[in-house]
Amino acid sequence: MVEDLRWKRVLLKLSGEALMGDQSFGIDPKVVERVASEIAEAVRLGAQFGIVVGGGNIFRGVALAAKGGNRVTGDHMGMLATIMNSLTLADALRGLGIQARVLSAVPVPSICESFTQRGADRYMEDGDVLLFAGGTGNPFFTTDSGAALRAAEMRCDAFLKGTQVDGVYDADPKLVPDAKRFETLTPGEVLEKGLKVMDATAIALARDNQIPVVVFSIHTSGALVNVLRGNGLYTVVSD
Ligand code: UDP
Repeated sequence: MVEDLRWKRVLLKLSGEALMGDQSFGIDPKVVERVASEIAEAVRLGAQFGIVVGGGNIFRGVALAAKGGNRVTGDHMGMLATIMNSLTLADALRGLGIQARVLSAVPVPSICESFTQRGADRYMEDGDVLLFAGGTGNPFFTTDSGAALRAAEMRCDAFLKGTQVDGVYDADPKLVPDAKRFETLTPGEVLEKGLKVMDATAIALARDNQIPVVVFSIHTSGALVNVLRGNGLYTVVSD
């Protein structure tokens, strides 16, 4: 059943930690299954998905650099981590009968296809769920920036940022019980107030391409579909 959704073609960004569950590292297959089933439900309602999963549950380049290692090598390792996460989420989606493809910014042709905008456009028109792996393909960037770039290239209606909490707060709601949640914010306010939504490059890229950033909880069951319908709790960052 295809619904008239508030946002139909979306870029869903998940941090690598969203696949980690209670573990301190890596991938929890049960969590991957749950996230995949939320996405599958939304696909069945007619939503089109590009998905970017980070790699922080496995590796971050800055962590290597902080210990005296080479930042560029570390970032290469981080990009490889995003491919691992994308592969597992794609498998889980296929297990639920959803056609999913991993398209990487870093060519690893024996494992997955490489990203081209035209190829991705065709696949998305066919209704495939696309997992954009490898970030931007360049060191010194984040997967948030990679996701904003793909959202612009794919002309997405919204950039959905799935986080641990149901929106943007003025303080960490897990530490400050009366922290205030914002319904809406402008990208300028996010940058001025130093709110931790995503890095400034990603915010600016979304703003420059008039793509609203919708922050919601990926851990709340049913929240993804609710958000696509324009219901439930979330914060919209747009001008
Ligand atoms: N990374 C990179 N270029 C990109 C995207 C990611 O070098 O365009 C590397 C970087 O080392 C980063 C790691 O991949 O720390 C994992 O990505 P990110 O930290 O964005 O993951 P998340 O925090 O969303 O799990």
